[in-house]
Amino acid sequence: MKYKFKAPRGTQDILPNKSEVLQKIERKIFEVAKCFGFLELRVPTFEHTELFMRSVGDSTDIVQKEMFTFEDRGGRSLSLRPEGTAGAVRAVVESGLINEALPLKVCYLLSCFRNERPQAGRLKEFHQFGFELFGASSPVADAEIISLINHLFEELGVLNLKLELNSIGCSNCRGEYINALVDYYSKYKNDLCETCLERLEKNPMRIIDCKNTNCKEISKNAPKILDYLCDECLDHFEAVKGFLTEQGVKFEINPYIVRGLDYYTRTVFEFTSTDLGAQSTVCGGGRYDGLTQIIGGKAVPALGCGIGIERLVLIMEAQKNSMMNFEKQCDIYIGNIGNSSVGLCNLLALKLRKAGLCVYTDLIGRSVKAQMKYADKIGAKYACIIGDLEIEQGKVLVKNMKDGDNFEVLIENFVDKVTLQLEV
Ligand code: ATP
Ligand code: MG
Repeated sequence: MKYKFKAPRGTQDILPNKSEVLQKIERKIFEVAKCFGFLELRVPTFEHTELFMRSVGDSTDIVQKEMFTFEDRGGRSLSLRPEGTAGAVRAVVESGLINEALPLKVCYLLSCFRNERPQAGRLKEFHQFGFELFGASSPVADAEIISLINHLFEELGVLNLKLELNSIGCSNCRGEYINALVDYYSKYKNDLCETCLERLEKNPMRIIDCKNTNCKEISKNAPKILDYLCDECLDHFEAVKGFLTEQGVKFEINPYIVRGLDYYTRTVFEFTSTDLGAQSTVCGGGRYDGLTQIIGGKAVPALGCGIGIERLVLIMEAQKNSMMNFEKQCDIYIGNIGNSSVGLCNLLALKLRKAGLCVYTDLIGRSVKAQMKYADKIGAKYACIIGDLEIEQGKVLVKNMKDGDNFEVLIENFVDKVTLQLEV
């Protein structure tokens, strides 16, 4: 039979074995986040389109080409979130959290939606783990976020990542830089792609981020923002580098990182991996000092970053990371013979489950042989079968499914003995 429905292109089902592995990874990330003082924030899946236009920027690819936008019944335009920062900033401004104890640190794990052409490492629905830190303008904060990510990747056992660092200055230094960009790119008007010609008018820095081969080639010799930084931005950048060096975080300067979103100021960074192919960025972030104000709150300096979970998993798979190993979880299979022992099986199973063990019982009245076959299939560590004889004698034979060894347990000691056995 042909299946009638398939998941839409660019989306993924996470099947049970894989989700177990993902949960492990996500738990680890939340743990590390907590050590650095980041607590979870949950925000809606969609927001007013205007929020993304204002924050991400209405001349960015994300807003212009990639958003899933729809109208509600009142004719208001809503969009599925293409990233996490805009909603997070909106939430801390709207709730007033941003007026309380600063610095404020939040993190989140959420799905993002971008109508991009699906390819390896590029999905229409993907997941981001994000960190946002509000109320710190000092370069110490930039270094803390970056070293947090660095530490996190170490904890996850992810190898061979490259940290690329840049500063894209502030509105003071950017004016002159943008003039220089316009002068430079104007010479190549015949070779730039159509979008970049538009960008030249509206948002010249976006050209540097263009994925078109011609534009990329032209950008190789474009003016570098680092040559245009004002004294304050330069000091800030030097201090970030200093703190990172002190903490033993290795980085490379890449003067052409501008990031695909408009809200960034000063520090921007990306962690890239050669295990990813063309979509090499697994984590991107930076400072966004003007964003809370753009969204209608008071001016609070802020910064953050997002890790692409699917790309992280691709790297970990490629590197055969031990966290990717799925361990079957059934601790013990308690089978029955005939109806008379079902009640006892259920009772023993419940007691073991209350002690935290994973227990399977027979739910469909299978034969003993079929039950043992099933126990084997689900990878049960131990198995036993309880029937009238066992009840009469008050004892059960428990089988170690790995080595085939059996041991006898009194039913009255069953829970204690099995729990003990599984602890070793
Ligand atoms: P890209 O280099 O892929 O264009 P971006 O600059 O658009 O990335 P950000 O908006 O900074 O990406 O998103 C943060 C992270 O989310 C990226 O570094 C990446 O790991 C992940 N990501 C972004 N877009 C996608 C996508 N379409 N599919 C899967 N992961 C993605
Ligand atoms: Mg992109």
